Amino acid sequence: MSGKKEQVEHGYFGAYGGKFVPDALASLLEGLGQVFTGAIAEDSFREELQELLKDYVGRPSALTECRNLSEECGGGRLFLKREDLNHTGAHKINNALGQALLAKRMGKKRLIAETGAGMHGTATATVAALMGMECVVYMGAVDVARQAPNVARMRVLGARVVAVHDGQGTLKEAVDAALQAFIQDPEAFYLLGSAVGPAPYPEIVRYFQSVIGSEARAEILRREGRLPDEVVACVGGGSNAIGLFSAFMDDPGVVMTGVEPAGKGLQFGLGAHAATLSAGAPGIIHGFRTYVLSDADGNPAPVHSVAPGLDYPGVGPEHAYLKDIGRAQYVSVTDAEALAAFSRLCRKEGIIPALESAHALAYALKVLPEMKKDQILLVNLSGRGDKDLETVLPMLGL
Ligand SMILES: *Cc1c(COP(=O)(O)O)cnc(C)c1O
Repeated sequence: MSGKKEQVEHGYFGAYGGKFVPDALASLLEGLGQVFTGAIAEDSFREELQELLKDYVGRPSALTECRNLSEECGGGRLFLKREDLNHTGAHKINNALGQALLAKRMGKKRLIAETGAGMHGTATATVAALMGMECVVYMGAVDVARQAPNVARMRVLGARVVAVHDGQGTLKEAVDAALQAFIQDPEAFYLLGSAVGPAPYPEIVRYFQSVIGSEARAEILRREGRLPDEVVACVGGGSNAIGLFSAFMDDPGVVMTGVEPAGKGLQFGLGAHAATLSAGAPGIIHGFRTYVLSDADGNPAPVHSVAPGLDYPGVGPEHAYLKDIGRAQYVSVTDAEALAAFSRLCRKEGIIPALESAHALAYALKVLPEMKKDQILLVNLSGRGDKDLETVLPMLGL
């Protein structure tokens, strides 16, 4: 894998990644990369992170076997990695804590973040409070309106939420605004929420989310004495998926599957979904090269998913690479399929998943019946669904 490591060191995953940004930003990113490399080489940094993950986040998160759903499907065994049980209710906190420790090391007093569904904004507001830093969160105006509970959480934690009114008023515009704010305020630290953006962010976010995969791998080996046959995660920007995949990269017997949002259905074309790897093409967005959903003029296309955290017209560059070399496969499920899976997990297992995570689950429920009784399918349950109840209740006729 030495060839791959070298590519990562230069900020590339095959032909994807890199940093296509103005010089002022490029030098800030250069500095960030050096701090990151220095930090993770130090025992004291890794120990401080480890302790926070244990005593503040509540890690390791549980690995739950879903016996009822497995029995109903009549095939393989379904296990869930329970990131929904983390403090603040999703995997985002793993990355927010890690990057906040980098900010502290750099002597920064202010965190800037973008957010879509508000989960990353909430995680950033949380770590800012913990570490005594200021926090400004950029959020599309449409998202501010439809994610009121998370906006309230950010405010009560002391963060300032800035509504971005440009374009579609969602995550893409929030990232634009946050990048712009960072260029204008180099004293701040830009705490990016997914495995996207210019180098070195995708590598930094993968590192801080790799705890998902390493815990899942160790726990399934301890309990079952074997690796899973397939690991599955939903893909928005791709951070929870790359965190899970990172531990199984060198296990060719483990199938790795990323699940994208097909929204109303891929057949309805641009604007109806956010399945970037399934329906997009290579291009540049937000300063890095990856698969992009673009309109006829080459601009990022409008996107849709019932799951606000999956609503992004780009995807992490490492996923683009893993797709091209065939190490991971990427599929998509519709809003309706995700909603049905959401409901089945609630009723059969007593677990309310985030709508994002319900996408991974929907795929799992399709393939489980085809698997043999002793085969294991491991799904990353990236977050809990409390934030989605207002959306889901009317759709389920409740
Ligand atoms: C943000 C979010 C996602 C999507 O982000 P990734 O970077 O693709 O992991 C998925 N699930 C939940 C619960 C989220 O909050």
